[in-house]
Amino acid sequence: MASAQSIRSAIRDIPNFPQPGIVFRDITPVLADPGLFKDSITLLCDTAGGTAIDKIVGIDARGFIFAAAVADRLGAGFVPVRKKGKLPWNTRGLSYTLEYGEAEVEIHEDAVNPGEKVLLVDDLLATGGTASAAVQLLDGLGADLVAVSFLIELNGLSGRDKLGDHRIESIVQYE
Ligand code: 5GP
Repeated sequence: MASAQSIRSAIRDIPNFPQPGIVFRDITPVLADPGLFKDSITLLCDTAGGTAIDKIVGIDARGFIFAAAVADRLGAGFVPVRKKGKLPWNTRGLSYTLEYGEAEVEIHEDAVNPGEKVLLVDDLLATGGTASAAVQLLDGLGADLVAVSFLIELNGLSGRDKLGDHRIESIVQYE
């Protein structure tokens, strides 16, 4: 049985990274452990709730690791949401505010067809700015967004409030 508690135990806290005052939740020990990585994919797959998914959308860059494995396991396609300037074909982009400055993410305009069932996956939900931009891009393409799923959710930052009416799932939560 896949256990969220054992995944949580393996997540490493790195104080003052990438800047003073931030505690970074390092997921690389989860990735490096074959059993925990498999369990994290199983639990993320479960968030689809048994719905047949057409596309798993992953967010640059750690989201790709989980989303691609989930796509393979569920027999779905994989779609990247990337940082600005990385995708080679026609894109739709959206900029959003970070704590300091702005960022922009993009998706290929033909990556998802209207009505396709989509699961959006990222490693961690903090303020929700990144996921909110990805959700808006998917809404704009007419995706049927089944759920937005994270390995980790930082509850104190209320990121889920930025994601509208969509179903939000997370495997491990921190206050
Ligand atoms: P948000 O836009 O919700 O504030 O930040 C979430 C994004 O930043 C995610 O794509 C995630 O990869 C990254 N991120 C922010 N803080 C952390 C952290 O502590 N650990 C990890 N693994 N990713 C983080």
